[in-house]
Amino acid sequence: MLIGCHGLVFSGKFDREGVDLSARMAAEAGYNLLELPLLDPFSFDVEEAKKSLKPFDLSISSSMGHSLDSDISSEDPDAVKAGEEKLNKILEILHELESGYLAGVIYSALNKYMQPATQAGINNSMDVLRRVADRAEGYGIKLGLEVVNRYETNIMNTAREGLAYLEKLDHPNVGLHLDTYHMNIEESDMFQPVLDSADKLVYVHIGESHRGYLGSGTVDFDNFFKALDRIGYSGPMTFESFSSAVVSPQLSSMLGIWRNLWDDSADLASQAYHFMVAKRRAADTIKMH
Ligand code: MN
Repeated sequence: MLIGCHGLVFSGKFDREGVDLSARMAAEAGYNLLELPLLDPFSFDVEEAKKSLKPFDLSISSSMGHSLDSDISSEDPDAVKAGEEKLNKILEILHELESGYLAGVIYSALNKYMQPATQAGINNSMDVLRRVADRAEGYGIKLGLEVVNRYETNIMNTAREGLAYLEKLDHPNVGLHLDTYHMNIEESDMFQPVLDSADKLVYVHIGESHRGYLGSGTVDFDNFFKALDRIGYSGPMTFESFSSAVVSPQLSSMLGIWRNLWDDSADLASQAYHFMVAKRRAADTIKMH
């Protein structure tokens, strides 16, 4: 099973030095997957990244969220077009890196919207995603739509809303991406949404209620891991955490990372790895009861 760590645990930028550092530290902490946030794919040097990743036995995934000027759920055709180009560029990068997953808020901007989504905007989003999903399928890359809280999108804030979107989208190469940080804000509990998503769940983010050390907040991880075990989830699981100690110019401000919740990336990553493995193992023994 792929157990991953978000690159921003280690570095705020993903140039040669940033990818070098994140790959080495993720591998040292025990992970076999590194998630790269490709928010600006046109400035990403894939050849340099390949060299950075070569010494390590790491799979790669990516997550992103659109900016407003590449929002495919917009009614502005220029933004929709820019968003499709961005997604296609990311797919090319991921194909070069032999990645199997593109997840995150790929269906809208990662943004606090000041009004509800419009039907025309949702239709634009679906039209783009169908074409991108076809291309991704050719590369063997699965798409996961991340359900996030109301302050980060106006399209899907609960698993049920995500499933309704997927049903209308109707594409076999697109599934759901659940994140415990967002679920803790929006869902009624951490168990039922996982059961409801069983057939569609393709990607998971593990994050604490304040995005710091796992186990130091209010997320009900025990029930979440029991639910994953119940549905036999075997897809990737990635630890996601942010602190003002490591800053990405694009992502940190959008996510409201104003506080310093940790300052030792190596310790944080290692603790999270062992936390996730222990929770999975505990849930796995329930069948012996
Ligand atoms: Mn997430």
